[in-house]
Amino acid sequence: MNIIVQKYGGSSVENKEKLELVCNKIISEKEKNNDLVVIVSAQGKTTNNLISTANEYANETQISNKDLDFLLSTGEMQTAALLSIMLKSKGYNAVCLNGSQAGVITDSNFGNAKILDVIPDNIISNLKEGNIVIITGFQGTDILGNITTLGRGGSDLSAVAIACALDSKKCEIFSDIDGIYSADPKIINNAKLIDTISYDEMLEAASAGAKVLHNRSVNMAKKYDLEITSKCTFSNSRGSIVSDSVNEDTQVHFITKKDDISKICIVGPMMLSNKDAISKIYKVADEENIQIYMISFSELSINVIVDLNKAELFMKKLHENLIEKDAS
Ligand code: ASP
Ligand code: MG
Repeated sequence: MNIIVQKYGGSSVENKEKLELVCNKIISEKEKNNDLVVIVSAQGKTTNNLISTANEYANETQISNKDLDFLLSTGEMQTAALLSIMLKSKGYNAVCLNGSQAGVITDSNFGNAKILDVIPDNIISNLKEGNIVIITGFQGTDILGNITTLGRGGSDLSAVAIACALDSKKCEIFSDIDGIYSADPKIINNAKLIDTISYDEMLEAASAGAKVLHNRSVNMAKKYDLEITSKCTFSNSRGSIVSDSVNEDTQVHFITKKDDISKICIVGPMMLSNKDAISKIYKVADEENIQIYMISFSELSINVIVDLNKAELFMKKLHENLIEKDAS
């Protein structure tokens, strides 16, 4: 089979006009006798809006990640259904599958689930019947059938995981920018479009805040040696390729920044050798599913950098574990 996996991000599928352009891109590949698998994100700001809606119904701390995943998964389902409806109206056979129907099996870590396996049988049989297969990004199912999501921006990971499982010859990630730039082109006017970049550098940049590709997707592509092309939905730019390029250039490739983070400072005597405090910090982070981006030590303090929206929760739990419990 000539399988091509394409992923369209939220801004590419935002409304009917944009979905129309996406349809045309898909159709032109289909006309070249390729087997098309299309992964979609939720339209525009849908995911954020769904989160805000949930917060109107209950306090954020009272909402379970499991319920939230159930709600958020509907965003991608809408896009997939609408795209399928549109393609059919243009005379093409299409089918839409959610994460579970597409065989994306995850653990039960709601809100940030890890893909355990992709069982592509249903995708393949639909392709063999001549369908364009449209799949919801960002979601899967645990072994009990519960809907899980993969973490914000996770449809890139869905695309890469599905492309790997299908052994596809191409994995194209479409967004509203021409590809991978040396810095965010929305901030730096002279940012340069990069032709090819290694998995390792892309992973570093993605983890450090470059939004163009999700870091976990790059990590998985590297593991399975899948070349990713980052392209623009609205132009015919060649895009940028992430692959296993080997060379000795010493050029600086990226400058990036991470937004919405917070530095938490934990102060006490002899912190550098306070193994108990250090292990509790990691334990709390693990229990609360908080990612520590950076940690530094001095004689009197430990500083950790985490996501801004987790900072207060982290402080509260650290206070409970390092001050309240220890004092009682
Ligand atoms: N819709 C999800 C989000 O906004 C997943 C994605 O777009 O990749 O995070
Ligand atoms: Mg996205």
